[in-house]
Amino acid sequence: MNTDILSINENSLDRAAAIIERGGLVAFPTETVYGLGADALKSEAVKLIYAVKGRPSDNPLIAHVHKDYDISQLVENIPEYAKLLAKAFLPGPLTMVYNSRGVVCSEVSCGLNTLAIRVPSHEGAQRFLKRVNLPIAAPSANISKHVSPVTARHVYDDLCGKIELILDGGRCTGGIESTVLDCTGDVPCVLRSGLVTRDMIAQVAGECDVYMMKEGERVRSPGMKYKHYAPGCQTALYSFDRRLDALDEYRRRRAAGQRACIMCDCRTAADMEDAEILDLGSDERQIACNLYDKLREGEKLFDVIIAVAPEKQDGVMVGVMNRLTKACG
Ligand code: AMP
Ligand code: MG
Repeated sequence: MNTDILSINENSLDRAAAIIERGGLVAFPTETVYGLGADALKSEAVKLIYAVKGRPSDNPLIAHVHKDYDISQLVENIPEYAKLLAKAFLPGPLTMVYNSRGVVCSEVSCGLNTLAIRVPSHEGAQRFLKRVNLPIAAPSANISKHVSPVTARHVYDDLCGKIELILDGGRCTGGIESTVLDCTGDVPCVLRSGLVTRDMIAQVAGECDVYMMKEGERVRSPGMKYKHYAPGCQTALYSFDRRLDALDEYRRRRAAGQRACIMCDCRTAADMEDAEILDLGSDERQIACNLYDKLREGEKLFDVIIAVAPEKQDGVMVGVMNRLTKACG
């Protein structure tokens, strides 16, 4: 199969809509990472997502809709706090989990009685979702467990020959996947951290829990139990306090003839003397935005990425540390 990368215009959107209508897959940009979309109402189309990605069949997908879509068609028992949160943060990188009406096919939620819904703010995503006017089931558009894609080229590198069309909306500015928030209880509960932080949610909703898996309990966000986001080279991860140990490991690896690099923020880079650096930038937004791009750059150029965690660990960094630990830990 030929894989086309097309910028977003009326012609490419017509083509995308035709593919979705006949049960095919289209990769599209969002403000977080690129998604691999299918009509959430078509079982065979959704199954294709799992097959193309090699995704475990118990890891549910998020249904994406445009900003004027009435989600009460798909879900019920929307609590008051969720309405406030939607007003404050949507469209944007916040996925909200509700009780499903069972309208989308069961493969989307892997048989759970809940449905995760996201309204992306990326203009290209909105145009695509408006054009099809359907709930689009979409995980990240990468091979399962690889680093998520933040450019059309990243999608192509993983899925070339497996899908017909990649809508190119430029580089994603968010960089890590959406915050996933359970809105089925009395208090919202973060299942996966992201750019909309727990504090931001608590400020609007009054309270916000963070999910911790308890022993013996069925995991509430199945995706979180898998190793994820791994680059195709060796990795190591050091805390900020152990950054000089990272430099020692770098030197040992280099002396052994390996192509090693250190991935860190620009403040830590200053302590790394003449080491080869994958620079994540300075503030937390930049670090989130650059993380997957640098992991993908690193796996192409180096045998080993030695990552140093940023000193700051709260806010957006909770989400970054979660990804970094899974990628390099
Ligand atoms: P991905 O699309 O690869 O970013 O993964 C989607 C994430 O959303 C996974 O971590 C899932 O576990 C989570 N998710 C999707 N649907 C649900 C749901 N109904 N309940 C809880 N978590 C969900
Ligand atoms: Mg993913």
